[in-house]
Amino acid sequence: MIELTETATPSETVPQSRHLATAVPGPRSQELHSERMAQVTHGFGVVLPVFVNRAAGGIVQDVDGNRFIDFASGIAVTSVGASNRRVAQRVAAQLERFTHTCFMVTEYESFTRVCRWLNEHTPGNFPKRTALFSTGAEAVENAVKIARSATGRPNVLVFDEAYHGRSLLTMAMTAKENPYRLNFGPLPGEVIRGASANPLRPSVDGHSGDDVAAIALESVEATLAQHGPQTFAAMVIEPIQGEGGFIVPAPGFLQGLRRLADLHGIVLVIDEIQTGMGRTGTLYASEHEGIAGDITISAKALAGGLPLSAVTGREHLMNAVHAGGLGGTYAGNPLACEAALAVFEELDDGTLLSNARAIETTAREILEPLVGDTSVVAQFRGRGAMLALEFADPETLEPRPDLARAISAACHAQGVLTLICGTFGNVIRLLPPLVITDELLRDGLGVLRTAILEASTSVPG
Ligand SMILES: *Cc1c(COP(=O)(O)O)cnc(C)c1O
Repeated sequence: MIELTETATPSETVPQSRHLATAVPGPRSQELHSERMAQVTHGFGVVLPVFVNRAAGGIVQDVDGNRFIDFASGIAVTSVGASNRRVAQRVAAQLERFTHTCFMVTEYESFTRVCRWLNEHTPGNFPKRTALFSTGAEAVENAVKIARSATGRPNVLVFDEAYHGRSLLTMAMTAKENPYRLNFGPLPGEVIRGASANPLRPSVDGHSGDDVAAIALESVEATLAQHGPQTFAAMVIEPIQGEGGFIVPAPGFLQGLRRLADLHGIVLVIDEIQTGMGRTGTLYASEHEGIAGDITISAKALAGGLPLSAVTGREHLMNAVHAGGLGGTYAGNPLACEAALAVFEELDDGTLLSNARAIETTAREILEPLVGDTSVVAQFRGRGAMLALEFADPETLEPRPDLARAISAACHAQGVLTLICGTFGNVIRLLPPLVITDELLRDGLGVLRTAILEASTSVPG
C-alpha cells in the first residue's frame, strides 16, 4: 500500500452539495457545445450537454459553476469517486516512472498484481488466469476468442435485451437495434440469441403465475438443440442486464444456464462489466445467485476511470490459447493498472460494499412506494447501487419513454444527473458513486421523486 500524502479531500475541492448557478445548460457550456458540434462527429450523442471542469465524490461541477448530483458515475465507472485520492496518487506516481512499455514488449509488475487480485476475487473456487485489455467490448471479444480456441466450436449464445458493446462482434451480441446496430451491418455470424427471463416482460409467453425462469430455460434448450449444443463455444450473459433495462433475471435462470453450460460443455461467460467491482453490494453480481462463470469479465469500475478491462477464467481455458494469440498495444496499460490497484485497496475493507447496500435501502424507501402510489411506475428494481424505475402503464405495461425523458429532463434542470436505459427507452437508472454522502443521495432522490409525482399527476386516468 502506498503512503497517502496530505492533499485536499474531494469534498474540499468540490463542495458536496447541489447548486444551480445558471439555467442548465449555462452560457459557457452552450458556447462549448456549439464548437463541439462544429468539430466532433454527430455520431456521438450526449445525455446532458454541460461541460465538466471538476468532479469528486457525488458531485459533477460544470464550467458555469453548476453542481450536479451524480447518479451516473460515468456509466458505472467512477464508483470510488471521480477524483479518488488513492487513484490519483498511484497514477501520478506511475506517471513519473513511465507511461507505457506495452506488456508484450517488456513487463511490469502491476499487470501481474491486478491479475492476481482478480484471480483471487472473481467468483469460482478453481485455479484461474487473467488477461487484461482496455475496453469492455475488447474483453468480451477476447472471451469469445478464448472460448472458441479452448472448445474448437464456433457459436456464441447471447440473450434477449443483452448489451455487450459497440465493436463489430459485440454489436452483433447486443440486442437493441437503434442506436447500436442500425445501418452498421452486415453483422458477424455465429451469434445466436436465446430467451431471457425478464420477470416483468418475459420474452416467452406463458400464463400468469408460471415460472418465468423455467419457461425461458426451456426455450434456451430448444435454441441450443436447433443448432446442436455441441456447436456452442460460449454462452455470454450479464447477471443483471444493464443497457437492456437493469433487468434482474427471474430467480433460477442463471443457475439453469450454469447447468446447461455444464451439460453441453459450453463455456459460461458472465459479463460483469457494469455489475462488478462492488456495484450491486457484492464484489460481483453472480455472487447473489451463487454461481460462477467459467469466465468472468470486468471493466467499467475496474480502474476508477482509466481504461482497463479483464477476462478472468479457468486456468485450462485461459491457457488453451496459443502463445502470442492474445494482446493489444495498450492492454493493461501501467497507469490503468495502478489505478486498479488503488480501486482494490478501496474495495478491500468492505465499506464500499456496505455503502452500495445502504444506497439500495435508502432508494427503496423513497422510490418503491411510487409503484403503487402513481399510475406511471411499473417496477422499481435492481440490486445495491444499480437501481431503476420502469415507466409504463402498470396494467397494460405500455412503455412510456416520453415520461422517462420528461422526468429525466426535469432532474437535469434541477441539478441531478440521471440516465435512461431499456429496450423501450422507458427506464431511469441510478448508478451513484459508492462514496456518495447520504445527504446528497436523499437530496437527489427527492428531486427525482418530485419530478415523478409531477409527471404522474399530469397523466390522465
Ligand atoms: C459497457 C458495457 C460493455 C462495453 O464496454 P465498453 O468499455 O463500452 O466497450 C459490455 N458489456 C456490458 C454489460 C456493459 O455494461
